[in-house]
Amino acid sequence: MSARARQFIRVLIIVCAAFWPDSASAQNGRLPLNDAIAPFVVANVEFTLLHELIHVLIDEAGIPVLAREEDQADYLTAVIFLSQQTGLIYSPATGRRNPSIDWPPVPGPPAHSTIQRMQAIIDAWRIEWTIAIQDKMEIPYADPHALEIQRFYDMVCLTYGRDPGNLEDFRIENELPQDRAEFCEEDFAKAERGLEFIKTTLRNNALSPLRPSKQPAPDFAIQLKFEEAIAPTHRQYKLWLENTSIMFPLIEALNRAYYMPRPITVRFRICGQPNAYWEPKDAEVNMCYELLDRFVHLNRFRQKFAIDRRKTTLGMAKANSAFK
Ligand SMILES: [Zn+2]
Repeated sequence: MSARARQFIRVLIIVCAAFWPDSASAQNGRLPLNDAIAPFVVANVEFTLLHELIHVLIDEAGIPVLAREEDQADYLTAVIFLSQQTGLIYSPATGRRNPSIDWPPVPGPPAHSTIQRMQAIIDAWRIEWTIAIQDKMEIPYADPHALEIQRFYDMVCLTYGRDPGNLEDFRIENELPQDRAEFCEEDFAKAERGLEFIKTTLRNNALSPLRPSKQPAPDFAIQLKFEEAIAPTHRQYKLWLENTSIMFPLIEALNRAYYMPRPITVRFRICGQPNAYWEPKDAEVNMCYELLDRFVHLNRFRQKFAIDRRKTTLGMAKANSAFK
C-alpha cells in the first residue's frame, strides 16, 4: 500500500486546513465515530487485508510472478469476495458469524451485500483519485501499484464480470466503458483459475516428499492479533471488525483450504503512517490503525465524489436511452 501511504503524506502537506482538524480529532479519539460509516471502513480494511494475504500466498507458494504482482493481489482479492469456485468453506463453529454477513458467496447471482462491499472498495479508489487530481498531486507513474483510477476500473470490471447479466446498471453508474466490459467475464474466470492454481501449488508443496517434514496442519496457520488498541477510535475499529466484518470467517476459511508452510501473523498495530504491508522475514502482515483513520477520512467525500456521481451518471444514461 505504499502509493496510498505516500499519497496520504502528500495530502498532509497540501490539503487545506479546513479538512484536517476533523481528521486529527478522529485520530486522537476526540471525535465519536458514527456506526453508519462502519460498512465503508470495514469493506476497505477487508480488501487491504486480503490484498496483503494474497502477497503472502504468492510468496509462500513460490509462484512465479508473470506481471505486476500488485495487480494480481487486487484481482485475486476480488475473486475471494465474489467467487463460488474458490473452495473456501466457512463453518460457523466459532459462533462469531453475524447472520447478516453474506460470505462465502452462495450459488446464483451475487448477494446485494457482496455488491455493496465491492462498491465501497470501488468508491474508495474513486475518492483517492479525485482528491489527488483536485489537489494537483504528482501522478505516481513509477509506483509498483497501478494508479488509483486503474485499480478503480479493474475492481468495477471484475465485479461486473462475475455476473454481467444482472449488473448492467452497476457497470453504467461506475462508468465502465463497453469496450472494456466485453472482457470482464473472461478476466474474472481467469482470475478464478489463478487462485485455484495457488491453492493447488500450496497443497502439492505441503505433500511433496522433497519438502522437509513437519508441515504445520492447515488449520489456524494464519493468526489475527490486535495490539495497542488504546485510543477510543482504535477500540471502536476493533469492535466493528469483530462484529460486522467477514475477516474472521475469511481467515478461518483460508486456514482450512490453504496449506501454509509456516505460521503467519496478521497484526493490527500503530505504525506511524497509514499503511499495510507483508513482512516475509517476520512472517507478519502489518495492518496499521492509521490506515483505518484514512478510510474514515475518505468517507467524508463519499457522498459528493462517489454516490452523487454514480446517481447522476446512471440517471443521464437512462434519460439518453429513453430518447433513442
Ligand atoms: Zn500489495
